[in-house]
Amino acid sequence: MSIPTGPVDLSLLPSSSVVGDDGRLTIGGCDVVGLSEEFATPLFVYDEAHLRAACREAVAAWGDGVAYATKAFLCVAMARLAHEEGMCLDVSTGGELHVALIAGVPAERLVLHGNNKSTEELAAALSVGVGRIIVDSFDEIDRIERLIADPPALEGGPEDAEAPVRSRPKVLARITPGVEVHTHEFVRTGQEDSKFGFGLASGSAARAVERLAALDAAGVVEFVGIHAHLGSQVFALEPFAQAIDVLADFFAPLGLPELVVGGGLGVAYVNGEQAPTMAEWAESVRAACRRAGIADSVRVTAEPGRSIVAAAGVTLYRVGTVKDVPGHRTYVSVDGGMSDNPRPVLYGSGYEAFLPREADALRPVPIRLVGKHCETGDVVVAEGYVPDDLAVGDVLCTPVTGAYGHSMASNYNKVPRPAVVFVADGSARTVVRRETFDDLVRLDV
Ligand SMILES: *Cc1c(COP(=O)(O)O)cnc(C)c1O
Repeated sequence: MSIPTGPVDLSLLPSSSVVGDDGRLTIGGCDVVGLSEEFATPLFVYDEAHLRAACREAVAAWGDGVAYATKAFLCVAMARLAHEEGMCLDVSTGGELHVALIAGVPAERLVLHGNNKSTEELAAALSVGVGRIIVDSFDEIDRIERLIADPPALEGGPEDAEAPVRSRPKVLARITPGVEVHTHEFVRTGQEDSKFGFGLASGSAARAVERLAALDAAGVVEFVGIHAHLGSQVFALEPFAQAIDVLADFFAPLGLPELVVGGGLGVAYVNGEQAPTMAEWAESVRAACRRAGIADSVRVTAEPGRSIVAAAGVTLYRVGTVKDVPGHRTYVSVDGGMSDNPRPVLYGSGYEAFLPREADALRPVPIRLVGKHCETGDVVVAEGYVPDDLAVGDVLCTPVTGAYGHSMASNYNKVPRPAVVFVADGSARTVVRRETFDDLVRLDV
C-alpha cells in the first residue's frame, strides 16, 4: 500500500532511475542533484532509454503506423527519437509540422490533425506529401478539394516554385462516436457536442464518408479509414472498449483498410495509481474490433502521446522561500511553476515531490508546493509531502512531468523557459537550451 507520507513510489520515476545506498537518485547514470548544478533549474530531464523503450513498446503493441502525438512534448531531438524508434508522428499545426520536417522526419511518416487546419497548413502538408490527413470538417473537405483542383503557386525560391502539390493524399475521417470516457471535461473529445470531427448520431459522419468516398472515386483523395480520439488520461479500459464497439460498428461495413483509435492511455502520476500498459490497451482495442467483426487485415493503430513521454521526464526545481502560515499550511516556493507546468492550474492535476538527494526518505511534512508567479493559483503540488529536513536551496523533483509540461510552457511573468536535457549511459546533453533574458525581447520590434 502506498501512503502519501512514504517515499515516492519508484515506479513513478523514469526506468533507468537508481536510488543509491546513500539515497541519492541517478537517472540515465547521471546524478540528479549534479544535473541541477550543471544545467541550473528549473530543468526538464528525460531518460532517453525510457523514451526509446516506450516508442518500441508502442510499435510492438500496435504495429507499423502507430503515431506519437507530438503535442505531448516536441523538440527536434524528440521528433528524431520517435522516428528512429519506428513511430509515425502526429502533428496538428503548421508549427508542429515544421519542427518534424526540420528534424528530418520523412513527410510520409507524418499524420496531420486539427479541427481548424488553415488553407496554408493544408497546402504545406500536401506539397511535402504528408502520409495521412485526418479530415475534421466539411469546410476542410472543401479546402482540400480546392487546393488539389487549383494548386497555389508557392512563394520562395525556385526549388519551392517547382514543388508540385502532390495529388491524392491519403485521408481518414475523424468521427465523434458520442461516447464519453471518464476523464477531465477539457480533455474529453469523443462526445457528440465537440468542436472535433463528424458526429455519428447527427448523421454528419455518414455524410462525410459519402463525400470522401466520392472524392476517392474521382481520384482526388485516397480515402483509407476512420479515426476517433476519445479523450486523454483515460484509465479504465472497459469504457474505452465500449467506445471502440460503437466506432467499430460504424467502421466495419465501410470496408476501409485503416482504423485509428486516437490516444488517451492514462499514466500514473501519484503514489498508488496504476494505469494499463500499452500492450493491454492495444489488446483490449483489438478484442473490441474482433467482437465488431472487423477483418484481421485492417490496420488498427493508435496515437499515444502522454503514455510515451510523461513518466520519462522529471522536473527539477530549487527551493527558494519557505513560508509557514500558522494554523494553515507551509508554502514551499520553487523557481518555476505554472509557466513550466500549467496542468495543476488547468486540470487540478496532482503530482508527487521529493528530494533527489534522499529519494528514499519518508515525507512526513505536509506542504503546498508553489511557483514564483504572481497568482495564488500558481500551484505545482496542492497537497504535497516532503522530508522533515527540506531546506532553502534544496533541489526538489516532480516526477511524471514529461508530457504537456514543456509543450505547454509559457513566458508568463517573463520567466525564461527551462532547458531540456536527455540523459543516457552516464552523460547528459542539452536538447533545448534554456531561454535567456535576451530571448524575452527578441520578438520586440
Ligand atoms: C492529444 C491527442 C492524442 C494524444 O493523446 P494522449 O492522451 O497524450 O495520448 C492523440 N490523438 C489526438 C487526435 C489528440 O488530439
